[in-house]
Amino acid sequence: MDERRSSRRVMVGDIPVGGGAPVTVQSMTNTPTREVDATLSQVRTLAAAGAAIVRVAVPDRRSALALPRICRESPVPIVADIHFDHELALLSMDAGVAKVRLNPGNLREEGVRRVVASAGNRGIPIRVGANAGSLPKDIAERMGHGPRALAEAALRQVRILESAGFSDIIISVKASDVPTTVEANEILAAETDYPLHLGVTEAGTPELGSVRSSVGIGYLLGRGIGDTIRVSLTSDPVVEVKVGLEILRSWNLAPRGIRIVSCPTCARCSVDMISVAGEVEAALDGKAGNLTVAIMGCEVNGPGEARAADVGLCCGRGGGVLVKNGQVIRRVDETEMVSELVRLVEDTLSERAKNG
Ligand code: SF4
Repeated sequence: MDERRSSRRVMVGDIPVGGGAPVTVQSMTNTPTREVDATLSQVRTLAAAGAAIVRVAVPDRRSALALPRICRESPVPIVADIHFDHELALLSMDAGVAKVRLNPGNLREEGVRRVVASAGNRGIPIRVGANAGSLPKDIAERMGHGPRALAEAALRQVRILESAGFSDIIISVKASDVPTTVEANEILAAETDYPLHLGVTEAGTPELGSVRSSVGIGYLLGRGIGDTIRVSLTSDPVVEVKVGLEILRSWNLAPRGIRIVSCPTCARCSVDMISVAGEVEAALDGKAGNLTVAIMGCEVNGPGEARAADVGLCCGRGGGVLVKNGQVIRRVDETEMVSELVRLVEDTLSERAKNG
């Protein structure tokens, strides 16, 4: 992994972004923001899953008027996503949002001036950025839709804020094409020191989108680029947070958590491994602690292959064996394999907590 790019630090509420701060995962609600209870419930779920920052769309005045309670009761900083209307940005900042995402190129000069004055007085950062699908016409005509055009569109927004005297900025450039996203971020990383928010936009369904996001975001993080990430998936946003955390863990940028590893199975396997692994994953979901749990398809090669894990289950005909630190500790019946493995995980976590 390359050395992390040095960026300036911006505070989103109490969460530092950039300047060497831990890379954070964020997500976005998909409830109507004006429905306060539903939105707060989703914000809490996302926060519990590991989102450090949650963005909500503010498409109209009713949504902006819902923000005071959402901001007050949210366990994490709330970001208002605004298009076109600077009054909505002002209302959102009055309501207590910790960051605003907008395109100053879509606002009149007077609107930019008022937004910047309010954000500056309150210490609220602004995220600007460009999406390959909505580049300004003149940039698209002159430069096409490639990475340089994307970076230029973002830098133009940065210059608008800078010329209004504002520099508490986070930048994002996103395309659904991974190489374009990567190269546009590399350009920004070389040409500015503002923190970068990474994401591959319109990444797709969980299966395909996770791969594309992991390749794009993961590559950039490996190059030391990126201060906060959002995985965009056509799914429950909780999945976005889980995938985002897993990308960070893959580079050791987040605590390992409970990591489940399972074998790909082969002709030696005599159990329904997909169901067993799914049940174990669901049972351990959200459990705190650092532990690698292996689930292997056979008792012959399984214990050896699970050696790197802290605890494991090696399945066989009619049952399996539980393994701890590479040693078989006991046999378990098929009906209790999952529950006994979960109990072994819990016991091991409490032992570790006791021993410090
Ligand atoms: S652990 Fe057993 S079932 Fe799984 S891949 Fe290895 S040999 Fe095959």
